[in-house]
Amino acid sequence: MGGSVEMVEETLKLAYGENSEFIKDKRIAAVQALSGTGACRLFADFQKRFHPDSQIYIPVPTWANHHNIWRDAHVTQKTFHYYHPGSKGLDFAGLMDDIKNAPNGSFFLLHACAHNPTGVDPSEEQWKEISHQIKVKGHFPFFDMAYQGFASGDPERDAKSIRIFLEDGHLVGLAQSYAKNMGLYGQRIGCLSVLCEDEKQTVAVKSQLQQLARPMYSNPPVHGALIVSTILGDPELKNLWLKEVKAMADRIIGMRSALRENLEKLGSPLSWEHITNQIGMFCYSGMTPEQVDRLTNEFHIYMTRNGRISMAGVTTGNVGYLANAIHEVTK
Ligand code: PLP
Repeated sequence: MGGSVEMVEETLKLAYGENSEFIKDKRIAAVQALSGTGACRLFADFQKRFHPDSQIYIPVPTWANHHNIWRDAHVTQKTFHYYHPGSKGLDFAGLMDDIKNAPNGSFFLLHACAHNPTGVDPSEEQWKEISHQIKVKGHFPFFDMAYQGFASGDPERDAKSIRIFLEDGHLVGLAQSYAKNMGLYGQRIGCLSVLCEDEKQTVAVKSQLQQLARPMYSNPPVHGALIVSTILGDPELKNLWLKEVKAMADRIIGMRSALRENLEKLGSPLSWEHITNQIGMFCYSGMTPEQVDRLTNEFHIYMTRNGRISMAGVTTGNVGYLANAIHEVTK
């Protein structure tokens, strides 16, 4: 039920660190999961079973499926401030207040990097303050890391948020996915891990995770796990993968600059600084649903109506056309 041991071992090293003491001390209960979604769902079910009266605090906005996942697991949802529409950046003060005001021992859902849909991540200093306040309140941080490597191009750097929490002595939950950073969307390959107090608790938690998996899908598929463990278990292949992840992230970063430059060259009076300040696969453009509708109907450019552009779809060949269309509907 727990899936591939080799894949899970390699996946934990990516998130917790190659030489993590928690891995050595067998303090991480981890199972192969059906990609990031499956990892989140397994955790939500685990939360409901063992903390039936607990709530989950979810950022506003978030990946829409988070709401569906915790809803279907029958966990009560609360929200916390995250995005500030005025600055198109982080509402740090609102976020900190909500952490302070939540009942002690609440569950908080955090995007480890490349926040979806906003592309707005806290700085390292802000993560340290968030970690501190979550510790003070005795909250439980659950990280969703769907884009490790896709934000900065370096999986180590993208795991910094989690490492800060680990240094502060938190117990954490973590969902990992290979859908984007290894292009394995169709294989549904990921991992759910829970950092425990000690080895005894780890054995118990892992056993309970497996018991949750058994009646849901019995056991996860083997193919993606073999791809991941083959690549990450071979230093040469792993290096090649790291280079390719960086190339993908750098391409997206390059497209952000190109889109902003093109808009500025067209003489747009609006500030497009947020395009390059944001990080990861998505640009939360700030366009209204009506402007997005115009892009669709008049220019055949498609994005979610909240104005979220998938930067992965922007290329040197279409960035000029895109900038021109955005300028037309926003001027
Ligand atoms: N979490 C976030 C924040 C995401 O953006 C996504 C993908 O869109 C996922 C989880 C889950 O992706 P998957 O189930 O394909 O790994």
